[in-house]
Amino acid sequence: MVQVRSDQRKIRKNIHDIQIDKPILIVEDQASLAKMLKELLFERYGAEVHLANSYAEAKNLLSKHRHEYHVVICDLNLPDAANGEIVDLVNRAKVKMIALTGTFGEKMRETMVNKGVIDYITKDSINAYEYVVNLVGRLYENYSTKLLIVEDSMIARKLVQHMLELQNFNVLLAGNGKEALTVLEENPDVKLVLTDYNMPEMNGFDLTLDLRKHHLKEQLAVIGLSATGNNELGAQFIKNGANDFLTKPVSYEELLCRINQNIDMLVYMEALRNAAHRDFLTNLYNRRYFFNEGKDLYNTSVLENKPVAVAMLDIDLFKQVNDNYGHEVGDDLLVYFSYELSKQFNDHIVARIGGEEFVVLFTDTELELASDLMNKFRQKIADTPLEFDEHTINVSVSIGIHHLPEDNLDAMLKIADENLYVAKENGRNRVITSSVE
Ligand code: GH3
Ligand code: MG
Ligand code: MG
Ligand code: MG
Repeated sequence: MVQVRSDQRKIRKNIHDIQIDKPILIVEDQASLAKMLKELLFERYGAEVHLANSYAEAKNLLSKHRHEYHVVICDLNLPDAANGEIVDLVNRAKVKMIALTGTFGEKMRETMVNKGVIDYITKDSINAYEYVVNLVGRLYENYSTKLLIVEDSMIARKLVQHMLELQNFNVLLAGNGKEALTVLEENPDVKLVLTDYNMPEMNGFDLTLDLRKHHLKEQLAVIGLSATGNNELGAQFIKNGANDFLTKPVSYEELLCRINQNIDMLVYMEALRNAAHRDFLTNLYNRRYFFNEGKDLYNTSVLENKPVAVAMLDIDLFKQVNDNYGHEVGDDLLVYFSYELSKQFNDHIVARIGGEEFVVLFTDTELELASDLMNKFRQKIADTPLEFDEHTINVSVSIGIHHLPEDNLDAMLKIADENLYVAKENGRNRVITSSVE
């Protein structure tokens, strides 16, 4: 039995939502502040939060859980440790730390950064909570964000690497432009390149120009590094296609602000692209995207003589779900079904082309395999009763498959749809595949 909880439903609806599956420790003696942060972190990320109201309690919790914590948020002024002693304690436990302070001063800032505190926030600032909560989420997302540092000076490279790793980024390194291109070829999921100008083999400008041949600014951010006293370089970087530039030596805070701003821009652009290509409810590809992309893929496969197959799926008696349990439960079922479908067929194009109608376009997959996989999927859906709050619902799906290239994709789909109709006529919960002559 699969329980579909309302918080799970929300998660699946939006791929940008983050779920944090590691506990977070808050060390803060002001109970109201601690409670508020705890609630916000739970609401936003479903995160488990441990509270300590003193140095002693933090010590105790860290000794038990230090390997589990995602991050520690700590007040620097505690009743039993008034002068930031907590920082050394957390450092010894090797957990990342965000500091909360009552006062802000240049000296404090320097001490904190030197001690490896990721960031510090003054408690009285109006945005403090929002800032901390966002930062916690970002630190979690950063694990899966790849950045590439291109810099020929080992010392400068190490320094920037250290700064970025403090923020949990997945950092890759290259000593010049040529090496960077190789690293990028092996890691097409790099989101941002931070590049020096003056390097052997290939300099930062040539690298940027080369990158822009294949990568849009909205998909791969490039930040140029230029030495102080050479203001022209920054402008030239932008003219050659960089998103931004920084002057060396780089300050920790400036680096992070620029990196985060650029990553935010990429995430935002991706959300816009998704909004155009994806179905709002289920996050699967929408009808329009399917027909555009599908046609190209179909044509390429036919040209290259690769096998193609297409499956049309329609949830059985779905109207009854709406009628019996309400439209919202119907929506949740669609979200669940879509999630399972995209998980099972993530190597292929999966789209929602109608209310409870879906299509999977298989490329480079032999008929037998496509048919076999669909049957397994059908069986899994039929064998898994769903628990929606207090209701238990049995779901099934009918599927029509066609595998021979026709005049075009539409003609193929039409035959798959006819097979789907036969599946419904023959009693639903079955797969009908065009017979092979
Ligand atoms: P069959 O087994 O023959 O396919 O029966 P069915 O009830 O699944 O098919 P029918 O086409 O009669 O009903 C489909 C229903 O899907 C009708 C429509 O109200 C509902 N529907 C379409 N889009 C949505 C949606 O986004 N959310 C919800 N909750 N229902 C939807
Ligand atoms: Mg250099
Ligand atoms: Mg239908
Ligand atoms: Mg139906």
